[in-house]
This record gives sequence, structure tokens and C-alpha cells, in this order.
Amino acid sequence: MSYPVQKSKEEWQAVLNKEQFRILRERGTEAPFTGKYDKHMPEEGVYTCAACDAPLYKAGHKFKSGCGWPAFFDAVPGAVKRHTDRSFGMERTEITCNNCGGHLGHVFKGEGYSTPTDERHCVNSISLNFSAEDAAKENGEVKKENGEVKTEDAEVKKESKA
Ligand SMILES: [Zn+2]
Repeated sequence: MSYPVQKSKEEWQAVLNKEQFRILRERGTEAPFTGKYDKHMPEEGVYTCAACDAPLYKAGHKFKSGCGWPAFFDAVPGAVKRHTDRSFGMERTEITCNNCGGHLGHVFKGEGYSTPTDERHCVNSISLNFSAEDAAKENGEVKKENGEVKTEDAEVKKESKA
């Protein structure tokens, strides 16, 4: 499998800390309810790959799953790659960064969450960084009329501006 970003084990060890290396490069999992982005619910911004900085998830993709890890119902188009993972006697779908191959977590489908996709990207906080920069909006007047996150509207506005 080849990704745009290629580094040797030693090169990754040089740029990642021990826990990042264990999770991103050795498909580890952080303990639930310990990650810094588990309960992080920004209104704007983007979560990037902790290994290569590729944008992976937007703040509007995140939802409260209660599972103990950051949960997203969708990803930036083309940013996340899926693989069948048959480890631990289960069949799961592993997700990796499509730019560097870093392990993010797993995706689960059909769990009944009331999200637009009914998918849960269960991602290790350690595999992510958060950047609020994407939030820099020229139009500061856009306000939400209620507490609901209008993901689709926000997406359309951003794309038409780009
Ligand atoms: Zn990456």
C-alpha cells in the first residue's frame, strides 16, 4: 500500500512521540475517555492528522457518541482510507490517513446514532491535531438560529467561497 507521505520506521520515530508512534504506526488504541479531543466540541475548525497535518475531519462532523473516543459521522472527502481489519477475532473496518497511512481508529456503521450517515468514525485523539484556523470567516454575522449544528449549510457556504 503506498501513500504520498513515505517515511521509514526510524523517521516516524523521530517525528512522533512514543504514544503517537504506538497508535499511528503500530495500530494501537488509546484508553477510552482519556483523549484530549473526546469531549472537545468546537463549532468550527478542522482536525488534522497528527503525523502529516492532512485535514481529516471538520468540527461539524463531530458528534457526541459517549463511546470514550472522538466520534465523527463523516470525513473530509478522500482524506480517510478504509481497510478490513480481522484482528482480535472480529471483522472491523480500520481507518487510516490517506496521506501518510497513519492509523486513526475504526469506523462502525448502523449503530442508530441520529447523524446524517449513521456511521461512527471512532478516532484516537492522539492521531489528531485540532486547528481553529478554518474558522476564520469573513462573514461574522452568520449565526445559528438554534442550538443545532447546520453542517450541510456550512459546507455549502465554504465550498462556494473556495
Ligand atoms: Zn497522515
